[in-house]
Amino acid sequence: RDSTPLGTQQWLPFTPNREFLADPKLFASASRQHYYDASGRAILDGSSGLFTTPAGHGRQEIAQAVYDQLLKMDFCAGFTRAHAGSFALAERLAGLLPEPLNHVFFASSGSDAVDTAMKISIAYHRARREPSRTMFVSRERAYHGSNLSGTALSGMVNNRRAFGNPVSGVVHMRHTWLPEQRMQPGQPTVGAELADDLLRLIQLHGAENIAACVVEPVAGSTGTLVPPVGYLDRLRELCTTHGILLVFDEVICGFGRTGESFAAQSFGVTPDIITMAKAITNGAIPMSAVAVSDEIYRTVIDSAVDDGIEFFHGYTWSGHPVACAAALATQDIYANERLFERGRALSPYFLNQLHTLADLPAVFDIRGYGMIAGIEIHPDGKPGQRGHRLQKHLFEQGLHLKATGDTAILAPPLIFEREDVDRMIGLLRDALAALD
Ligand code: PMP
Repeated sequence: RDSTPLGTQQWLPFTPNREFLADPKLFASASRQHYYDASGRAILDGSSGLFTTPAGHGRQEIAQAVYDQLLKMDFCAGFTRAHAGSFALAERLAGLLPEPLNHVFFASSGSDAVDTAMKISIAYHRARREPSRTMFVSRERAYHGSNLSGTALSGMVNNRRAFGNPVSGVVHMRHTWLPEQRMQPGQPTVGAELADDLLRLIQLHGAENIAACVVEPVAGSTGTLVPPVGYLDRLRELCTTHGILLVFDEVICGFGRTGESFAAQSFGVTPDIITMAKAITNGAIPMSAVAVSDEIYRTVIDSAVDDGIEFFHGYTWSGHPVACAAALATQDIYANERLFERGRALSPYFLNQLHTLADLPAVFDIRGYGMIAGIEIHPDGKPGQRGHRLQKHLFEQGLHLKATGDTAILAPPLIFEREDVDRMIGLLRDALAALD
């Protein structure tokens, strides 16, 4: 350990990953669709940073907005004071969101946004005189954050193992369309049948105890799990029938990743609450938001006044003026460059080209939606080994992507050209063919 380079003994990125500590891969700069290492070698960004940067890196407009705002007013607490940028951004987001979601609470990270959505759900039911509704349903193999509530909500058992069970009352639906169990795509009844796993949990725990059902429309970071037709519709139907709030965690799906502003619009299913983060500022400044309807907002806020039990929310950084400036400049880029439409137009080419890799012996499954896709590799030995080996090899060959277990996840910036897709596929083809 003493020989660890670059002081990584002092700074532990994410988990203390031994491989990273022994040989950290350092990016030195980034521009448009590339990262660069210290020697100036270009590395194509196949995952938009970490699903954060659809408009590409180093955007002048965002940098300028951040710089101007820092000089104009660097901080303003959101509790008793406000600034115009937070109202302007809320209005801008309301314009992108599906009706009737038109109010936003600001937070700092995706995990904070999910935690806030959970608080809003509980407060909403309490205000409606249903205080027993405090449980949450999410899904196996889901990821919703790394704070305690996000870790509890996530369906990643390994992530929870070190912490016991400090946030109780979370139960998980089966994620039954994993490739090994997948049924025929496109059959309307199949998705609905799979969603009936929610019914199983309702029967087991009682609808009167459940506050919300939280799902990521396309589960992104856990392997790009695309819901079968009818699945999200059926969840909506069941939640409505049983008085359970439906929360879409759109921390990855939001801002054009699935072809529309939000996946709610791509799938034509409107949840009660949407969480968003990452691409809200094109990844430039930490920020997140939670969108709710007028009805939920009024219920939660008015009850605070009526009951004298205040809805407690707010972080020092909620609606930070610099983050708002970055987010507004980002939304301008998305609109001016019609980036969501651009991603929607590129998606068929991206997905078709990916499917040309299906004949390689290492490939077990390819799936995707919009501008996010996963290539699952046949596991070999310890699960996850080959995914990480592939990721490492591709970094050396000049492609940055995210790997989870044995799945390589691709979520390129929406500024990608067809030539970038071709280059990415070429690198993937060579790397998959070389995988032993
Ligand atoms: N929800 C989803 C769906 C995510 O993908 C993530 C992060 N990858 C989070 C929540 C947590 O976001 P953050 O890391 O910004 O806290």
